[in-house]
Amino acid sequence: TCAEPALLHSVVRKSNLVEQANMKIELLPALSDNYMYLLIDVDSREAAIVDPVEPIKVVEAVRKHGVKLTTVLTTHHHWDHAGGNEKMLKLMPGLKVYGGDDRVDAITKKVSHSNTFKVGSLNVKCLSTPCHTTGHICYYVTKENSTEPPAVFTGDTLFVAGCGKFFEGTAEQMHKALIEILGRLPPETHVYCGHEYTVNNLKFARHVEPDNEVIQEKLAWAKEKCNNGEPTIPSTLADEFTYNPFMRVKEPSVQEYVKQTDPIETMRSLRKEKDHFRVPKE
Ligand SMILES: [Zn+2]
Repeated sequence: TCAEPALLHSVVRKSNLVEQANMKIELLPALSDNYMYLLIDVDSREAAIVDPVEPIKVVEAVRKHGVKLTTVLTTHHHWDHAGGNEKMLKLMPGLKVYGGDDRVDAITKKVSHSNTFKVGSLNVKCLSTPCHTTGHICYYVTKENSTEPPAVFTGDTLFVAGCGKFFEGTAEQMHKALIEILGRLPPETHVYCGHEYTVNNLKFARHVEPDNEVIQEKLAWAKEKCNNGEPTIPSTLADEFTYNPFMRVKEPSVQEYVKQTDPIETMRSLRKEKDHFRVPKE
């Protein structure tokens, strides 16, 4: 959400279409600060929807693009991500509903780490990233022989400039998820996360690293976007390593802030700090 509560209620959040030669991704704002993503394979006109919590909006977008929706990609079982699955399936019977957790509503295909499948000609690889929830899955999407960046749908594991709360996991697990799994994808990979939390995340990042100019610039840009109702998504993994404190747990400046020298202890302390951080109004 935008930092200013007054603006939050007056700004209409806009959808946005990211077009590449082989795949298109429509960002569909949902609830107060969630995103659903319509992923379209340009070659076959087959599509998948990530976390369709507002199914009517999904049906409208599918009609607008004239594509065939075959697949639901569920990042995790929380209601603001999986809560629309049953209605989605009623509106469009026959959908395959992927997820990594038995608690995902209407799940038809349970997946685990490294499982792969196709949406048209696009390859989807499941990345298990337990911590926010034990069954959390990120979906990594590539197209063979493409020179364009891949996409990763990170749900509530990685946000722009932040990460999800550790509801069902540990700092070790989030470190593995962010640094060893997501952090080793190609740096140009586009990051599509579950919530518009960018402005508040960057205010915490600035608090951690007051001398990091990349954070200041990204915050000014994100405020402008947010005030216009425009998404701050996608980012790239390369960018996240420059301003996201949870991706920067090896950096001396971040370790100094929490008075730690170990990346995992830094992750643990940072998350605690963020949980208690009061976002300044400005
Ligand atoms: Zn969640």
